[in-house]
Amino acid sequence: MTTQIIKTTCPYCGVGCGVDAKVENNQLIAVSGSKDHPANKGSLCVKGASLHETVGYQDRILHPTIKNERVSWDRATHYIAEQLSQVIEQHGPEAIAMYVSGQILTEDYYVANKLMKGFIGTANIDTNSRLCMASAVVAHKRAFGSDTVPACYEDIEHADLVVLTGSNLAWAHPILYQRLSAAKQARPHMKIVVIDPRQTASCDIADLHLALRPGTDAYLYNGLAQYLIEHGYIDHNYINSHCNGYEDLLKQVSHQTLSDTSHICDLEDDLVSMFYQWFAETERTVTLFSQGINQSSSGVDKGNAIINCHLITGKIGKVGAAPFSITGQPNAMGGREVGGLANQLAAHMTFSNPQDIDQVGQFWHATSMAQQEGLKAVDMFEAVAQGKIKAIWIIATNPLVSMPDSESIREALTQCDLVIVQDVSLSSDTLKYADVCLPATTWGEKSGTVTNSERTISRQRSFLTPPGEARHDWQIICDIAKEMGFNEAFSYKTSADIFREHAQLSALRNSGNRDFDISELSLMSDQAYDNMPPIQWPINSAYPKGRARFFEDGVFFTADRKANLIPIQPKLPAYPATHNELILNTGRIRDQWHTMTRTGKTSRLLAHTSVPFVEIHPATANAFNIQENSWVSLQTPVSKYIAKATITRSVRQDSVFIPMHWSDFFSSHGKANSLVRPIRDALSGQPEFKHSPVEAKSL
Ligand code: SF4
Repeated sequence: MTTQIIKTTCPYCGVGCGVDAKVENNQLIAVSGSKDHPANKGSLCVKGASLHETVGYQDRILHPTIKNERVSWDRATHYIAEQLSQVIEQHGPEAIAMYVSGQILTEDYYVANKLMKGFIGTANIDTNSRLCMASAVVAHKRAFGSDTVPACYEDIEHADLVVLTGSNLAWAHPILYQRLSAAKQARPHMKIVVIDPRQTASCDIADLHLALRPGTDAYLYNGLAQYLIEHGYIDHNYINSHCNGYEDLLKQVSHQTLSDTSHICDLEDDLVSMFYQWFAETERTVTLFSQGINQSSSGVDKGNAIINCHLITGKIGKVGAAPFSITGQPNAMGGREVGGLANQLAAHMTFSNPQDIDQVGQFWHATSMAQQEGLKAVDMFEAVAQGKIKAIWIIATNPLVSMPDSESIREALTQCDLVIVQDVSLSSDTLKYADVCLPATTWGEKSGTVTNSERTISRQRSFLTPPGEARHDWQIICDIAKEMGFNEAFSYKTSADIFREHAQLSALRNSGNRDFDISELSLMSDQAYDNMPPIQWPINSAYPKGRARFFEDGVFFTADRKANLIPIQPKLPAYPATHNELILNTGRIRDQWHTMTRTGKTSRLLAHTSVPFVEIHPATANAFNIQENSWVSLQTPVSKYIAKATITRSVRQDSVFIPMHWSDFFSSHGKANSLVRPIRDALSGQPEFKHSPVEAKSL
């Protein structure tokens, strides 16, 4: 018997932990945290530690099918190529869309983006990362001139104040939470503030919890800016040397008094001023923000309101001081690097500069280069419903469960001429609507790279034989591209070939924005790629070993190299709750991942929470005549959801909370996101998952 330890990366959250996979005779026997991985240094959370219980061939898609008939790969590839070519001929390239995922590897993302934007000729490729961090991307670009995460995980440990805002780190990013918790134990003077309408598990280590009124975060941060200015805590030298827009910011925030802020945020004055004073006097402050900020109809503004406070105090680019967006998925960052969002071009370039479009087109030897942004996720599915998109290719994601108003996705796919679903699991609700189904490989079977929230690129390595006829995502995309006549551009032999091209493209001169540049990796041999250790981008001649932080020198990626302070007018959520409605908040639970197609397979993970629930405050439960464990229905104009009540003081009286994970495969009582209206941020296109007025009834 041969035993091997394969170094790979966890496929779940954006922490991106290194995993040592113990493999015997093509079986995954056990997993442990990689001691030499900078993200986790040997630890794994319960999801990562259960990975060996979730692999296996049960519930896998094994063969390509067309209209539910098993076909050969040649037949499926030819059929898709022919159908897509026909759509282009009859309706133009904009009638085709691709919807991908932060679960796929950077190499898969790269070829998908290249095929759509350089050869099919449309930027209608978007990703489920749109639902996760698209608002943070726009906030970064507005402030820094680039989508750059300025910090690294060690900053959380070096900080004297860590603010978790819209982030239940304890459950959504458990290893980071463990690192934070250990740092606080080692340095008890470190303060932690949680800003969240819910009292989450992250509050266990908090010195202060601000359970603000849902959706009022931007008021809180504008109020903080005003407090810092009024009490003389701003860094005038830093602002004068490194920031634009201070006068406009001053005008915007100067009218908001502390009592205005407390009133609108529904918080006590004393608690608000305590937070403000801690922020004001603590040089080493990290603000971690996540989906509670991003998933909003004004998520971009909220991100900028946070960044403004760091910029005016110079709390950025220093050890233990930065605004820090934490991504949800394992490769949300990798998708941003290749340009896998509809409003991106490639390698952190956008469609705003025609020279960039030409250069990328030349680099790819593109035959039909997209010239403008494509449709973002919600708009894309609306275009499918309207019949404007005739063919949609869905890869490694389950929009029937994850998109807002998910019932409308069912209707859209039902009437679409061609739905291609490329996935792993038979438990994907979206699969039922596929005209063509393509079996893909998954974690443990595929090989490539992912990038975590602190910009560390890590290898996922293969060690299991794929079941049936499953193929790698990049191979499937390239085979279809070649069948469409784009042979040369998609003739990669390995994922290493793709990665080298991706690294080469990152060095292309463009509008002066070179934050993402990994050109040093473009000359890697196959062996060096196989052995590649985790490394933080950029990786180029200036930073051959990567870079922990950006903006240490106060130089940004804007045209004048100064950061932009963005004066924002805070907005309340798009739909306020009426007097008899409650505010629905949705989110992750500790031991499940997304739509449970992997984590739902192990009883260990189901043991924590095995059924969906509705968290409701005791006073509200009393008012609605709801008892513990009794059935409750939640209704919006778009759908209905039924689950048993959990009565808890951890939610506000005006709110209810439900987990986002359960699909039709795991529960017959409705899906959380079907209740959410498809309202999105006008700048980022990110939906407002955190604030849906609902009618609650006891059943
Ligand atoms: Fe995986 Fe995230 Fe847990 Fe790390 S913290 S083991 S990446 S789920």
